[in-house]
Amino acid sequence: MQIVSTIADARKIRASLNGTLGFVPTMGFLHEGHLSLVRRAREECDAVAVSIFVNPTQFSPNEDLNRYPRALERDLSLLKEAGVSFVFTPDAGEIYPPGFSTSIDVGDVAKPLEGAVRPGHFSGVATVVTKLFNIIQPTKAFFGQKDAQQCAVIRRLVTDLNIPVDVVICDIVRNEKGLALSSRNSYLTESEQERALLLHDSLGKAQERIAAGERNAETIKTLISDILSKDPDFSVDYISVADPDSLTELDSVNDDALISLAVKVGNTRLLDNILVRKR
Ligand code: AMP
Repeated sequence: MQIVSTIADARKIRASLNGTLGFVPTMGFLHEGHLSLVRRAREECDAVAVSIFVNPTQFSPNEDLNRYPRALERDLSLLKEAGVSFVFTPDAGEIYPPGFSTSIDVGDVAKPLEGAVRPGHFSGVATVVTKLFNIIQPTKAFFGQKDAQQCAVIRRLVTDLNIPVDVVICDIVRNEKGLALSSRNSYLTESEQERALLLHDSLGKAQERIAAGERNAETIKTLISDILSKDPDFSVDYISVADPDSLTELDSVNDDALISLAVKVGNTRLLDNILVRKR
């Protein structure tokens, strides 16, 4: 496995590879969720590249950029074990040299939910993903459904800008109790980890209610909100029932729907979602 931190070196390695290349962009502190994307990339492509870059432009000034968890040596040994061909670990100066000023605005899909709570976040994501695609030039790129709006933003970006990369969305990986894996779970105390299971439980109850015939989006959101309000330490940022591609809120669940939520559990902000498919 080769490890490079400059764009020039990444380009050299890319040019030396034959066949298809799968790419998994990450911010590091890897867990089974990330590794599931790597495994899928290995299944579908001849070689796999992973980037580890904590992208400053997708964090707001009041967010956790400086305390975002990092464990580079451990990450590299996991990626080596997983059969990755090369890892790109640039620093912020390599990606954003002096004078850098371009940014990508993907429009409406980036505005609600995470986009509303974290202004500029998806512009940062879309810009860095475009740069990484241009540097790595993958055949396919793998993203997790865990960040459902990010998936919708990337699909929009690739379609609108005719970027020749196939976007593959992979299922959410959860721990044995149902908590969606996230690098930020490391901020949770043991008690918070237990209580955070309510997020997935509430989505499961919503799914059951829809399977039993409920169609009204407000009723579904109220059901989730009632469950989450059982914990006084939770602060709900949003509960959404939306179209999975446009992220427009739905009145009624007649077609595919993305039920997503963002909740602060103590000081840690967690996301979870469930995709309800039309039967
Ligand atoms: P991050 O390092 O948080 O930027 O995540 C890198 C990629 O891993 C993104 O495409 C995430 O959606 C994906 N990912 C993170 N957590 C999970 C999970 N629990 N299951 C599946 N994919 C995940």
